[in-house]
Amino acid sequence: MESLKPVRGTQDVLPQESRIYRKVEETAYKVAQRYGFDEIDIPIFEFSEVFSRTLGDSSDIVTKEMYTFVDKGGDTITLRPEGTAGVARAFISNGLQQSLPLKLFYKGPMFRYERPQKGRRRQFRQVGVEVLGVSSYQADVEIISLASNFLKELNLENDITLELNTLGDNDSRQLYKVRLLDYLDKYKNELSKDSLNRLRKNPLRILDSKDPRDRSIVDNAPKIIDSLNHDSKQFFENLCDGLEKLNISFKHSTNLVRGLDYYCHTAFEFTSTNLGAQGTVLAGGRYDGLINQMGGPNTPGIGWAAGIERLALLTKMENKKIRPIAVIPTNQENYIDALVIAEKLRKNGFNIELGYNGSAKKRMKKANENNCIAAILLGKEEIKNNIVILKDMDSGAQQEISQLKLEKHLDMYKII
Ligand code: ATP
Ligand code: MG
Repeated sequence: MESLKPVRGTQDVLPQESRIYRKVEETAYKVAQRYGFDEIDIPIFEFSEVFSRTLGDSSDIVTKEMYTFVDKGGDTITLRPEGTAGVARAFISNGLQQSLPLKLFYKGPMFRYERPQKGRRRQFRQVGVEVLGVSSYQADVEIISLASNFLKELNLENDITLELNTLGDNDSRQLYKVRLLDYLDKYKNELSKDSLNRLRKNPLRILDSKDPRDRSIVDNAPKIIDSLNHDSKQFFENLCDGLEKLNISFKHSTNLVRGLDYYCHTAFEFTSTNLGAQGTVLAGGRYDGLINQMGGPNTPGIGWAAGIERLALLTKMENKKIRPIAVIPTNQENYIDALVIAEKLRKNGFNIELGYNGSAKKRMKKANENNCIAAILLGKEEIKNNIVILKDMDSGAQQEISQLKLEKHLDMYKII
């Protein structure tokens, strides 16, 4: 039956993998907290305009990738393809301008209709951060440092490069656009079809075209950095200095862009060469004009988002399950006594496996399969004498222990 297959581009994340995902997400949250970020949880669907108006008519997401449907009430709804638009919408709807600056963390599923491949899914997960209300480069240093420390905690520091560029302020960008168009005009007949389309709508995006026909043209194009005015240059220098002081190394990638008008100054990506074509694990930038463009108060913003699936593919973090302790009634009639002991231990923070049926031998076999660290055996004699038999599953050593002293003996196995 077709419907028993997961929909193309979606996946069941089975426990082994789920543990890694959780670890990656928890690590992001933990590190974000150290920088004073708080979690915001926004809906996974919004009115379509929230995305179509903010991501721009010419972006890949809006032109090709949105999951949009009309709901039963006749509203046009889109499953969120990314987090920033929703956070900006939430900022406006909740009137949060009194609480600026805001440092927000989010996590959860995103949806894009794209061609599934390694590291590219139709439902995928992101963690992300946004700083609202800070126009200084200090916020840029802070969130890049946060990203860098997050990746460090995942043991990825040696696998990943930070690519950084500046788009300058509005004036600088307008000047640059004129220069770029002047240059590209000469190559009109050689550009790819996609790039030709972008020539009028969104010329900056041509800079990061992957099409080989465009590459050599783009490589010799004028660079944004040469069109920056004094303030924009200063902004970029301050950011670079800050990163250098923090020993965060980066590569100035002159063709790294975010194509939309509300993006300015900082654009960056953390990339790996170990993921094939889908090498970008974390990407972000400054979007000072976004909230204003959505109809909110003029509020600067900067943020990044990271793809959990790609990070999970890369990380070599331990993802072992915590080793449980088995409680084993040696006879089925001792089950209730075993249940009472198991429950008491669980309440006090231990991770307990209590099987449902089977002989002591079978239960012991299961305890081995479950990689239990210890087993507590409980039979008629033990119950009578208020003791248990505690077996170390690695050495096989057994000892009788008073039930009163059991927890003290198990303390080293406690889940904290
Ligand atoms: P790409 O160039 O890979 O399509 P993007 O520019 O569309 O990336 P962003 O919108 O910047 O990506 O999203 C931030 C991060 O989210 C990406 O760097 C990537 O790690 C992850 N990501 C984006 N799209 C997908 C997807 N379809 N499946 C899995 N992860 C994704
Ligand atoms: Mg994409």
